[in-house]
Amino acid sequence: MAALAFVELDEGKVKKSSLEAVSYAHAVAGDVTAIVFGKTDDMDEVGKAGASKVLSVTDDKLSAPNIMAYASAIAEAMNQEGSDLLVLAKSSLGDPVSARVSIKVDASLASNVTDLPDTSGGYSVKKSIYTGKAFANTNLEGDKKIIIIKKNAIAIKEDGGSPEVVDFAPATNDSDFTVKTTKVEKAEGDILLPEADLVVSGGRGLKGPENWGMIEELAKTLGAATGCSKPVSDMDWRPHHEHVGQTGIKVSPSLYIAIGISGAIQHLAGVNSSKYILVINKDPEAPFFKAADYGVVGDAFDVVPKLTEAIKKA
Ligand code: FAD
Repeated sequence: MAALAFVELDEGKVKKSSLEAVSYAHAVAGDVTAIVFGKTDDMDEVGKAGASKVLSVTDDKLSAPNIMAYASAIAEAMNQEGSDLLVLAKSSLGDPVSARVSIKVDASLASNVTDLPDTSGGYSVKKSIYTGKAFANTNLEGDKKIIIIKKNAIAIKEDGGSPEVVDFAPATNDSDFTVKTTKVEKAEGDILLPEADLVVSGGRGLKGPENWGMIEELAKTLGAATGCSKPVSDMDWRPHHEHVGQTGIKVSPSLYIAIGISGAIQHLAGVNSSKYILVINKDPEAPFFKAADYGVVGDAFDVVPKLTEAIKKA
């Protein structure tokens, strides 16, 4: 089986979740070609994760994400490389692109996959459903398959070699450019919550917006994004785009630090793809502790400044 891995860049850096996708493709297929849109100095990272070849797309027309054009290019790459498997990480770009690729190459598709396929009696993949509360096993039919992996579910391989980097100029079709993509620059220093690798989030336990300085200080010290619970944004203590949960942003960082948040099921629905969760709460019975990997029972106003100072000294 030959696999193609779709690798996404964020400001020229390969996304960690894409390295997970390459590693998954390598574990399943062995022979992996990656496709990268845009320029990056991280090609060796892609090789270490298991790609022996990288198709590098540097056409200016394709530098900004374009769902239709990326789908056409990936389908063309699959046909050129004879790939019967496409692997990518779940993302706001990857999801719509892969749905269109599946139509173009007639592939079956499974999303939110957490484990390697079981090929003993077909091609069964395990996927996370109901915002991480259950798993389903789905059988993928047909010759071609697309697997969208859940972030943080797959370990990144680090012992591959340097890949062969080949320029790839896909045929572009005017009809793929009917939707104009506009790039919105993020404010300098801001870390976007959906893509953040570290998140420091505060809840109603912080009593008021005037106390958010210590959350921001901890986030700045760690290089983390800031988030909050729904009541906090409802009360305008924090902007709505920081609201995490079922009705807000879903995050999947390596570490989610929840401070003064009770851990209601609607909040957990947005954070349960996090690799590790640290909860700081003064109530030892707070439900969040059941979902936590690490917990500190204590007053946030005492614990958080000490934690920040300790990290600064480390
Ligand atoms: P609280 O429940 O008031 O908890 C505050 C916590 O802070 C407590 O655990 C307390 O022990 C702790 N605390 C207090 N003082 C301190 C201190 N000094 N130091 C440390 N800890 C302290 N909520 C979301 O967050 N996201 C959503 O997307 C969302 N969607 C919803 C959708 C629906 C349809 C509904 C009905 C609800 C939704 N909610 C959502 C609301 C959710 O049910 C909870 O009410 C909310 O998450 C609680 O927010 P909180 O934990 O900040 O506040």
